[in-house]
Amino acid sequence: MSDFSFRTSHDAGSARLGWFSTPHGVVETPAFMPVGTHGTIKGLSVEEVTAAGAQMILSNAYHLYLRPGDMMVRALGGLHAFTRWDGPMLTDSGGFQVFSLSSLRKVTEDGVVFQSHIDGSRHDYTPESVMRIERNIGADVIMQLDELIAGQAEYGASQAAMERSLRWLERCRIEFDRITRDGRGAPPQFEVPVGAPPMATHDAATDIIPPRQSLFPIIQGGVHPALRVASARGILDAGTWDGIAIGGLSVGESKPDMYATLEVVDPVIPRTVPRYMMGVGFPDDLVEAVRRGVDLFDCVAPTRMGRNGTAFTPDGKVQVRRSAFRNDRRPLVEDCPCECCTRYDRAYLRHLFVSEEMLGLRLLSLHNVAYLIDIMRQARGALREGRFQTWSSAWLARYHAAGAHGVTT
Ligand SMILES: [Zn+2]
Repeated sequence: MSDFSFRTSHDAGSARLGWFSTPHGVVETPAFMPVGTHGTIKGLSVEEVTAAGAQMILSNAYHLYLRPGDMMVRALGGLHAFTRWDGPMLTDSGGFQVFSLSSLRKVTEDGVVFQSHIDGSRHDYTPESVMRIERNIGADVIMQLDELIAGQAEYGASQAAMERSLRWLERCRIEFDRITRDGRGAPPQFEVPVGAPPMATHDAATDIIPPRQSLFPIIQGGVHPALRVASARGILDAGTWDGIAIGGLSVGESKPDMYATLEVVDPVIPRTVPRYMMGVGFPDDLVEAVRRGVDLFDCVAPTRMGRNGTAFTPDGKVQVRRSAFRNDRRPLVEDCPCECCTRYDRAYLRHLFVSEEMLGLRLLSLHNVAYLIDIMRQARGALREGRFQTWSSAWLARYHAAGAHGVTT
């Protein structure tokens, strides 16, 4: 029996209430997964992320491969032991980061050669090496290496990248299966300074056994419906999967194009597996995507915007430095269950940002993360109670009523 499973109960159109089971626990869907690029949700402790209601978190194989190194993570007991997060985890391959290094990388059929953004050192990223890296890091769900291009790329370029991503998926799957069968490479030997705590102790025989993981494929194809369908069909032809991701969104295309893409792939992806939309995390996008059958989300936006002083609210985005908050004693968001909103008021939050106090960045990051998690909790409640269409329409109407820039009184 697989260590991964998915079941659903209540449907509302394409939306559904679900449970995604992993070796480290069950994720109730739809759910937002906070992103800890370097193995930490920026500014927040594991306790805070847990209290915010996170069920599953992300990390990034590219960043952990460069620093501290995937073998080091493995020697330290794997990503769960290293970060102390004992719930479900997912690593992105880092393809997005590698392709973002446009002047520092070269793409061929074999893979990507790139220079580290840290020290300029040269690295080969291939479907096979990415599988070895993600198997060493040890998250529950690991992503294939795919080729990313700009969201508005023309048909020919989108088709070439999509077809290459399918070929790379096949190479990922073969290497994933090989590691499952033959085990990982020999355990690394790291010298521990005298007097320092020891590394996690392994014996060589058990260390080579890879953790129970699931490889997720990624649908590509830009904003071209025929390519998206071909990508999804190619993925289904290539094997059976515990979940399927939709990638290459929120990379410059319009919101209508993003939503249309979800509608195109919705009937093609079997309803028996969770659908994960990668890298999209604005509140309205989450609600729109749940309506179109998406179950899992991730995005760095809540913590990045939190550090910039921008808050997600039911009435749109709000800059907390605004002078109207100077003597505003109300919580940032009424009824938000997070520590920022239950304990502090807008006047204090504004003061922290104006004074450049680090608590401000932390509280606002916490709020933004908790807020997205809470929207998905509300969506699950509405699905369970058979009022999802009404709830989501009302939610979107309020969010958009404040205008694109978001204004609160
Ligand atoms: Zn809050």
